[in-house]
Amino acid sequence: MSLFSRRPPEHRHNAPTIELEGVSVAYSDRPALEDISFQLRRGERVAVVGPNGAGKSTLFNVIVGTIQPSAGQVHIYGSGPAEHTCIGYVPQRNSIDWRFPVTVWDVVMMGRTARIGLLRRPGRQDRLMVEQALAEAQADHLARRQIGELSGGQQQRVFLARALAQEAEVLLLDEPLTGLDTPSQQAVLSILDGLGSRGIGVLVATHDLGQAAQFYHRILLLNRRLIGDGPPAQLLTSQMLSRAYGSHLHILPTTEATIALADECCSDEEMGAGVELTG
Ligand code: ADP
Ligand code: MG
Repeated sequence: MSLFSRRPPEHRHNAPTIELEGVSVAYSDRPALEDISFQLRRGERVAVVGPNGAGKSTLFNVIVGTIQPSAGQVHIYGSGPAEHTCIGYVPQRNSIDWRFPVTVWDVVMMGRTARIGLLRRPGRQDRLMVEQALAEAQADHLARRQIGELSGGQQQRVFLARALAQEAEVLLLDEPLTGLDTPSQQAVLSILDGLGSRGIGVLVATHDLGQAAQFYHRILLLNRRLIGDGPPAQLLTSQMLSRAYGSHLHILPTTEATIALADECCSDEEMGAGVELTG
């Protein structure tokens, strides 16, 4: 990648935004993903659902190009992931060092830097785009604050603003709602809703089966292999979910409905919300 300018690869007309063909990833010979194929088309909203260790974060890293697949191909608009600035990536919060001393403004300006190259000074237009992105993510009042002193929901909105400033066409969000209170979750979801109506695609790793049932066009059910890819009604059934979650799935028959709870490991906060099963 050149520091002087970023010239993103051509976007092949009509190619899917993201396309994986037979992608496998191994960490020192231990397979994390095996033979994954799927497409994400323009403006689609897709959830990646699966237990801890299923390979969700690995999948995102292979799409943004920070991990190389051991087999298979990743295409972004028809070419390899390197240097594409059309993907905005919001990593899992526990993978970020929050002690890093930067302001919210700086974090969002990094989205512009990704576009214009490190050595070009941001101009008036770039500052305007940062302001607009902060406003859209309801974070304009936070601009001068240090990123490390914000709440989880505020941090998540700042990272959404960074992706907007980058003019991303698709956002990859790794468990954006985990650990957030309900109002913060609602704020993030309403921002995502706005993105969808502007044709920006989103791929979201989530533990929340209830939200996955309502909010996404499609579900990718993952546990190292792709167990299913389809609309929520087809995928969120006790049979499909137990193939992904195994013993971590609790089926609760109630008088009104059968509810599935995905237990993600340790604490009540991490207990995924329930989903009413359709079959
Ligand atoms: P998820 O995000 O669904 O919890 P991950 O993609 O983080 O899953 O991990 C998938 C598997 O790969 C797990 O078994 C995890 O321990 C392993 N893994 C993830 N990152 C690394 C790494 N950097 N080195 C070695 N193993 C890893
Ligand atoms: Mg993860």
